[in-house]
Amino acid sequence: MANPDPRQDFPLLAKAGVAYLDNAATTQKPRAVLDAERKFYEESNANVHRGIHKLAEAATSAYENSRAAIAKRFKASPEELVFTSGTTHAMNLAARILEQLVRPGDEVLCTVADHHSTFVPFQQLAKRRGAVFVVVPLDTDKTITEKHISSYVTDKTRIIAIATASNVLGYSLDVSKIKKRKAVLVADAAQALAHGDLPTLKSADMVAVSAHKAYGPMGMGCLAAKHKLLEQGSPLLYGGSMIGHVNVQDTTWAEPPSRYEAGTPNVAGAVAFAAALDYLDSHRKEAEKREKALTEKTIAIVKKYATIIGPQKKTAPIVSFVVPNVHAHDVAQILDGFGVAVRAGQHCCEPLHDVLGISASVRVSLALYNNDADVEKLETGLKRVREVFR
Ligand code: PMP
Repeated sequence: MANPDPRQDFPLLAKAGVAYLDNAATTQKPRAVLDAERKFYEESNANVHRGIHKLAEAATSAYENSRAAIAKRFKASPEELVFTSGTTHAMNLAARILEQLVRPGDEVLCTVADHHSTFVPFQQLAKRRGAVFVVVPLDTDKTITEKHISSYVTDKTRIIAIATASNVLGYSLDVSKIKKRKAVLVADAAQALAHGDLPTLKSADMVAVSAHKAYGPMGMGCLAAKHKLLEQGSPLLYGGSMIGHVNVQDTTWAEPPSRYEAGTPNVAGAVAFAAALDYLDSHRKEAEKREKALTEKTIAIVKKYATIIGPQKKTAPIVSFVVPNVHAHDVAQILDGFGVAVRAGQHCCEPLHDVLGISASVRVSLALYNNDADVEKLETGLKRVREVFR
């Protein structure tokens, strides 16, 4: 049964009394997730796949059952779900797997609003392969749309690697609407996992997420990818559990997903990731309603004190802004004094800040436990910013 006040499910929020508006960086963790992780270590801890004893079997089942449960969310088979440490690892892995598909003169496409964890691996892939790195600029409304991206796709586009929800501008995309022609579509769904449309393997060829942005643990995430892509790819990391055979001359690879999971995996993290998605599912409807209302309220407040960047209407619960003539860090520091946690900086999107002509921005990002009081505290803090820098 979903708790009518989800805040009660989050021990840190109850203790810290903070208006936590930094959810795009990481979310807080509900008791159900903390319990799942603890339960694994208390009852089933052993290394997976290798042991022939009951605990090893219990750990392996916990790990593989979590994989199967998570894969379903992406309309993927368990073999199409590779556990990673998060989106950054997943995007680097995606670039590695797709490397041999890219020929000199091909085009690799990202947008100027993409997070460095997408932008940099694919920029570097294009360089290594002699491909053209195509960067989709902002549209006239200072946003990115499916149509706008499609207009940059040509018959030479081999890879489209994009965030499906922006961690700065607060737009979200339906990737099924992107005309990808012959390209492989790699979706960075880090910000989409907890809010709204999660791309699946029906709408994208690869999808990367981080558990910690959707109430799950840090150091855990996954890359869901179509089997035919995983089958032809080379590993990113070498070591135990990912080999077919090793001899002095050479090594062969295990079948996916093991090929991409070298070493001891984060088993407790996988279990807690699955628990986080269950928690989210039981709150999703209420969360969407609440986040939408609070996003509108935030926009109305912020507009009085600052300039909102990107589209003025947000489809993800993220509102970034600049206070004219005040550095973002100063704004965040004053807000912190009022118990309001926001992020200030470039949010790992330096090219975006460059084209907007700003050195940094302040970001408010909402989650299912935020309430009117949190956003009202934000207003109190912004009033103070105005007084101090008048
Ligand atoms: N993509 C987007 C859109 C993000 O917001 C983030 C995290 N800020 C990442 C990728 C990277 O996620 P992680 O740090 O968990 O690897």
